[in-house]
Amino acid sequence: MRYLSQIFQPLITIPKGAKLKNTDITCKSQKLLLECGLIRPTSAGLFTILPLARRAIDKLENLIHKCLEHVNAQRMSLPSLTSARLWERSGRLDQVGAELLMVQDRHNKQYLLAPTHEEAVTELMADVGPLSYKQLPLLIYQISNKYRDELRPKHGLLRAREFQMLDLYGVHADEASAASVYDDVTGVYRRLFDSLHLPVHRVSAPPGEMGGSVSHEWQLPAAAGEDTVAVCPSCSHVSLRGPCQRCGSETTTLNSIEVGHTFVLGTRYSECLQARCTPPDSNPTPLVMSCYGIGITRLLAGSIEHLSSETSIRWPAPIAPYTALVIGPKEGSKEWLSHNPERVRGVSQLITDALGDEEVIIDDRHHLTIGKRLMLADRMGYPYIIVCGRSSTDTPPKYELYRSNSGHEEPGPLLLELSPLLEHIKQSQPKLFNKCINSFYVLLFLWKRFVLLFQCMIHLVLSDHHRP
Ligand SMILES: [Zn+2]
Repeated sequence: MRYLSQIFQPLITIPKGAKLKNTDITCKSQKLLLECGLIRPTSAGLFTILPLARRAIDKLENLIHKCLEHVNAQRMSLPSLTSARLWERSGRLDQVGAELLMVQDRHNKQYLLAPTHEEAVTELMADVGPLSYKQLPLLIYQISNKYRDELRPKHGLLRAREFQMLDLYGVHADEASAASVYDDVTGVYRRLFDSLHLPVHRVSAPPGEMGGSVSHEWQLPAAAGEDTVAVCPSCSHVSLRGPCQRCGSETTTLNSIEVGHTFVLGTRYSECLQARCTPPDSNPTPLVMSCYGIGITRLLAGSIEHLSSETSIRWPAPIAPYTALVIGPKEGSKEWLSHNPERVRGVSQLITDALGDEEVIIDDRHHLTIGKRLMLADRMGYPYIIVCGRSSTDTPPKYELYRSNSGHEEPGPLLLELSPLLEHIKQSQPKLFNKCINSFYVLLFLWKRFVLLFQCMIHLVLSDHHRP
């Protein structure tokens, strides 16, 4: 069992208009993350991720690993340093130049702290190639720290110089395979955002400096966002700008945060870096590649930006650092007699059994009043807060249950005896979401089998037709 008094969480209060390490506090996720002791700046655009935020990120990463398992993506790790020579060969060294953090080793060899790894992955494919078409399609990914020398880092984790990113790369024999895998992976990304209850829009976008044919931005509406999306009031279609491409209506412009970007890159990198595969009956051809990025730390800050009030954090329930916080009585109070720390621990253990391991934490700062601790807990946004308050001296005891989950603000707590309380908590969202994810994959699997069967039938009919 974890106790809040032992958690390293340096709370601070930031006065209005104050600066921290010479950086302006410009948006609520930045302010709340700092005040609640979740992050700490080291210099402009660089942050230490403190234990509770690290837990939230770990949970997000675990969700991602589970999702990517469904498309058979394999995890790996590339070095953070990429040879500058490689970026020269792809032509991006000049293109991205100013935003790259460069490093020189003792032999005067130039490296860059990579903001992304298309070159590195493509060179890997060239190095082991030419690949047989039988090895393809291949999906490989990593979650690692990336670097971008932002001119003006701002909004805390939303525009930092070092950030965590999921980058997934698809390697294909041809365009058709790339397109089909693109649909599968973006489908999985869709489910990931849905499972976090975030209205992330997939918006067609120009590929820009990345190159390639198809690209989508994944945009989360939030006031602090530096991008905008155009939402159609009649058909809900979302585009980057202009009147609705689907029905022609005028659109409403919303600020939004780009939390992901996906591309079919085509042969943009494989041609210049000579990464090829061998089709069954012809000479080696350049690989067709795709890439799929999600900014992990940006998604975390973006979801807080989207869900929170000015004064209280709200998390997507599946990634809250702890799902439930239990507040015991103040030392020496009437409730203290019925609910001493040992008894509170017993109640918390039962809640742990209902929620799963490591999801419950006890606020054991008994010298603070319940009201003060409840205020702090609300600010941290634990999805469930259980208080052993006045009614915990009843026979049988009753507990106050506060649910501070996204979008369901309630006027007061529920007052419940222990077993209805546990029952209530058991029906927590993450489990529901797992069911919904699983049925999605079953349907996807059945659909793919159906398509395969259909293709076989067509093939049989055609080969019949051609028989002399
Ligand atoms: Zn429309």
